[in-house]
Amino acid sequence: MSKLAAFGGTATVPRDWRHVQWPLIEDEDRKAVLDALDGPRLVSDTDGVNAVSRLEEDWARRFGHEACVAVSSGTAALALALAALGIGPGDEVIVPAFSFIATGLAPVHQMAVPVFADIDPVTFNIDPDDVERRITPRTKAIIPVHLHGAPADMDRLTAIARRYDLAIVEDAAQAPGATHRGRPVGAIGEAGAFSLQVSKNIPTCGEGGLLVTRDAELAARMRRGRQFGEDIDAGRDRDYISYGLGWNYKMNALQAAFTLAQLDRFDAYERARQENVTGFLARLAELPGLTVPTALPGTTHAWHILRFRFDPAAFGLDGVRPEALRSALRRLLRAEGVPMSQYQLIPLPDQKVFSDRVGFGSGYPWSVTGAPGTTAGEDYPVTRAVIADSLTVQKRHLHPGAGELLDLYADAFEKVWANRDMVATLAKAAS
Ligand SMILES: *Cc1c(COP(=O)(O)O)cnc(C)c1O
Repeated sequence: MSKLAAFGGTATVPRDWRHVQWPLIEDEDRKAVLDALDGPRLVSDTDGVNAVSRLEEDWARRFGHEACVAVSSGTAALALALAALGIGPGDEVIVPAFSFIATGLAPVHQMAVPVFADIDPVTFNIDPDDVERRITPRTKAIIPVHLHGAPADMDRLTAIARRYDLAIVEDAAQAPGATHRGRPVGAIGEAGAFSLQVSKNIPTCGEGGLLVTRDAELAARMRRGRQFGEDIDAGRDRDYISYGLGWNYKMNALQAAFTLAQLDRFDAYERARQENVTGFLARLAELPGLTVPTALPGTTHAWHILRFRFDPAAFGLDGVRPEALRSALRRLLRAEGVPMSQYQLIPLPDQKVFSDRVGFGSGYPWSVTGAPGTTAGEDYPVTRAVIADSLTVQKRHLHPGAGELLDLYADAFEKVWANRDMVATLAKAAS
C-alpha cells in the first residue's frame, strides 16, 4: 500500500499534467477572433449577416432548435426569457434551492419573487413533488435547471406546468448537448437559456449567452428586448423607435466568432468526453461509500460538473458527520493532485439577497406579493444533505484529451480508499 501524499508519499497525479485545462483554446479560435476583429461589424445592431447571426443559425441547426437569440450572458438570457413571457411584479417563479445564484436572481430582475423548491437526491435537480407543493395562485413559471449537465425531470415538470398553466424556462447553462428522451434540452419548455461563459461546456472568450425557443413570436419579443425595445426587420433600416421595454443585452462579434469555432469541434469533443467520463465513473463506482453521478435512462448527461456523494456509514464510519468525512477526503485527494472542490456552499434561499430580501428598495419585489421570506437554516433537507456530503470535479475533465488524467484521478481515489484507516482517523478527529 503506497503512502498518501498528504503524509509524505508521492502524489498520484504528477505536476506535468497541469496542462490539461478547460477551456481548450486552439489556433482556429484565435483566427476566428482576429478575422472578426478585422471584419466590417463588431456589433449586431442592424439587419444582415454577421458572426452573431451565424452563431444563432449554427446553434439552432446543431441542436435542432427553431429559434436562437444570442445575448450578453446566461443571466441576461434567463431574465430576458421571463420578460418576453410577460412575467413581472406580483408573480412568483419556482426555482431550485440548489443552483448557481443567477437562477434565483433572474425573477428578481423582473421584480417577480423566486420561490425555492428542494431537489432530487440522485439527479440534484428540482423535485417535481416539491414544485407542486409550492404552487400558489401567483405562480407563473418554473425554472428547472439541468444542473451539472443532467436533464431535469421534464416529463413530470411539463405535466405540472400544463395542469397549472405555468411557463417553463429551462436553465440549460450547464447542459448544451444534453438530451431528454432524444430531445435536446432548452426548448422542451417555452424557452431555454444557455451560458457561453468561459468555463461552460461550449465557451466563448469571456461572457455570452443564448436563448432558444420553438415560438417565433416569443423569439421576436426576445430580440426586441435585447436591443432597447427596437425592431430590427430584414431589409429595413434601423429606425431607432422603441416599441417596448428593452435592455442592451447584445452579444458582440468577437464572442460569437470564438463560439462558432468551438461549436465546429463540439461533436468531436463531446464524443471524447462521454468516453473519458463514463470510463472514470465506472472505476469509481466500485468504491464503497462513494456515489458517482449517473445519467438517468432516456437522458444524455453533459457532465459539466461531476459530483460525488460520500456515505460515512457505508464507509464504515458510523456516527461520523458527513462534513467530517468530506473534509478528510478533500484534503487527501487534493494532496494526491485531484482538485476536489465544493460547488454551491449554501442553499440559494440562504443567500443574503433572498433571506434579507435585498431587492429594489421598499422591500420590492417581495412586498408586492407579501410572500413569506426564506429563513436561513430552515427547510430544503435534500439540498442541505447534498451540500454536506459531496464534492465535485470541475473543468479539466471537459478537455477531450483528459482520458489519461482521469485514469490518474481514479488511481488517486483507489489509493485513498486503500488507506481507509487514515481517512477514518482524520474524519473522526474532525467530527
Ligand atoms: C453559469 C450559469 C448561469 C449564468 O450564466 P452567466 O453566463 O454566467 O451569466 C446561470 N445558471 C447556471 C446554472 C449556471 O451555471
